[in-house]
Amino acid sequence: MQVFGRLRIGLKLGLAFAVVLLLLTGVIAFGLVQVQRLEESSDKLAAGTLRRAILAHNAQNAAQAQAARLNSLFLLDKQIARIPVYVEIDRQNKILTSALEQLASHPADEHERRLLDQVGQSRARFTEALNTTVDAVELDLEGARAPMLRQALPALETLLGDTDALVTLQAVRLDNQTAEIRAAETASKRWMLVLGLAAVSVGCLSALAITRSIVRPLVAALSFADGIAAGRLDGTLPAVPGDEIGHLIDGLERMRSGIVEREERITQLAYRDALTDLPNRTLFSERLHQAVATASRAGHATSVLTMDLDRFKHVNDVLGHESGDELLRAVASRLTKTMLRESDTVARLGGDEFAILLPTQGSQDALLVAERILRTLETPITLEGQPIDVGASIGIASFPEHGKDASELMSRADAAMYLAKRTNSGAMIFCEAPGDSRRDSLSLLGELRQALEQNQLVLYFQPKVGLASGLTQHVEALVRWVHPERGMVPPDRFIPFAEQTGYIKAITRWVIENACMEIARWERSGLRVGVSINISAHDLTHQDLPGIFAAQLSRFAVAPEALCLEITESAIMDDPRSALAALERLHQMNLRLSIDDFGTGYSSLAYLKRLPVQELKIDKSFVLNMASDADDAAIVRSTIDLAHNMGLKVVAEGIETEQIWNLLRAWGCDYGQGYYVSRPLPAADLEAWYQRQAAA
Ligand code: C2E
Ligand code: CA
Ligand code: CA
Repeated sequence: MQVFGRLRIGLKLGLAFAVVLLLLTGVIAFGLVQVQRLEESSDKLAAGTLRRAILAHNAQNAAQAQAARLNSLFLLDKQIARIPVYVEIDRQNKILTSALEQLASHPADEHERRLLDQVGQSRARFTEALNTTVDAVELDLEGARAPMLRQALPALETLLGDTDALVTLQAVRLDNQTAEIRAAETASKRWMLVLGLAAVSVGCLSALAITRSIVRPLVAALSFADGIAAGRLDGTLPAVPGDEIGHLIDGLERMRSGIVEREERITQLAYRDALTDLPNRTLFSERLHQAVATASRAGHATSVLTMDLDRFKHVNDVLGHESGDELLRAVASRLTKTMLRESDTVARLGGDEFAILLPTQGSQDALLVAERILRTLETPITLEGQPIDVGASIGIASFPEHGKDASELMSRADAAMYLAKRTNSGAMIFCEAPGDSRRDSLSLLGELRQALEQNQLVLYFQPKVGLASGLTQHVEALVRWVHPERGMVPPDRFIPFAEQTGYIKAITRWVIENACMEIARWERSGLRVGVSINISAHDLTHQDLPGIFAAQLSRFAVAPEALCLEITESAIMDDPRSALAALERLHQMNLRLSIDDFGTGYSSLAYLKRLPVQELKIDKSFVLNMASDADDAAIVRSTIDLAHNMGLKVVAEGIETEQIWNLLRAWGCDYGQGYYVSRPLPAADLEAWYQRQAAA
């Protein structure tokens, strides 16, 4: 069967037909032979046995006829009347003689020969008796009766008996041969039937085998081809037979690999950005759709970042398009290296626009990634031997937080990116515009964007008093939001969200600008006051923070020593390495640095020692209960000693009572801040407070 399967279809069909034809020819030939044989048998029957039977019968008839004529002789008195009888007897005698001679010429067998001999003898006796009787009759009719009865009749009876035996023998022969012919006929019929059936079965079997060996691979080839048509290019190749279908399947396989190759090329052309070899907008959008579908099924978040370079147009204009292309390629490679997960996608959407898909991460993780990207872009890219600073603005939107489908996420990430660009904040998470959200706090935060533009933010200042001297050389700037409808909004209601969305950078810049402006104003009115500014973790990652300080300080002609930056312990511990680098740069600008909320984080002292800070602010949670809680008191007291050992000034915040004030002063704490001295005050009230202090 396997050998058969390897033959070509034409050969297969030819072979099968040949076998069937051969069988048919055999059956026909066999039939012809059988018919021939039957013909011969019936010829033999007709020419032999049947003839002999007739001859025997004739002989018997002739004998009987002679007997009858013999009897009739005695009824005829006149001789003239007996003459026709003698003629008839003679004729019958000739018939008898002829029949017996013919039979005797070719006796069928020994038995017949002996019987014929016997008939011959009895006939001779009868003829003799007949002649005697005839002679007697012609002499004396009545006298002849006795010899006839005595001689002729017994001889005749013997002759009749013998011819009868001969007739019987031939009849039996005839019966036997007829039966033989019939049996042969039946046998031939049976053989013909068997051979016919055999031919039909062999025909059916070979038809089946051919059908199987042709139709099965054909069906397999067909479904393989259907698979290719439906785009299943990795289907398993059906078994390849050695015939034309094998060639067909080989052809299909070549077609498939051709399609795969071409599809890959097309995909490359359709899905890749030729300049950077990154996925292009089409592929990005497909993956984003997929990511959103998967995320909504699996119930996790997915984030998209869109990024726009800040100074690309400038590079293009000044250094030319080739440098622009090179810059884009350099940015692409840095972006790719920043990605930590295989599943993340970095794409170039066009121009200097890039996008990143983080299929399993939420907006906070995305913000960390964005900050990592901004940091990698801080190292200038060298083009034509010239280092180029490429800043970027990144917008972030996450599913399901900011949008329920890909296009909504893209447009929201874009919105966040434009806001980040406009406010120069580096990276920002999308936040909803007023009215977009049902949740009060969110919509409140959504209005933050307008708050800056419409000057709704106000700085309050809280004095930081020298505990020993009672002098106030510094105040802490604390931001307030004077909302047109909600009134005064405390920072705890919007700073955390601004930090989460990256919008804090815009706020910080605003605070820096306004603090410098106030310092300059106070100075002009003869008041020398330094300002402490609160800096968030995200501000530290903003590559341009030192630049912002430098710009505002020089704009208002303020000395850097007039500013102190309060950075919380946890902000530093978020990313200690880059925090250290940022603090170093700020320190080099002669800005004072202070660790805020000390005691609430988990910083190691060994690490703090390496930071270029000058001040440590003990968190108010320890100070508030110091008088009643011995543990808190112990913490505060040892922190003061520790800070002094490290050469740091110590500030205690949250002093609400005179008792605590006195305790801290007794323990050598350098500065104190709290409601006991003053609540945070608007700039104008602070001047009045100074005047009251001076008067006291
Ligand atoms: P912080 O930096 O620890 O600021 C001190 C907070 O303690 C201020 O709250 C101040 O009003 C409050 N405070 C001062 N003395 C006392 C006292 O005796 N008792 C009590 N119970 N509280 C006292 P405020 O102004 O609501 O600010 C809260 C937080 O908001 C600040 O904590 C700071 O983390 C953040 N924040 C305020 N302004 C800014 C800003 O301009 N930039 C940034 N990044 N964060 C800011
Ligand atoms: Ca502070
Ligand atoms: Ca604090």
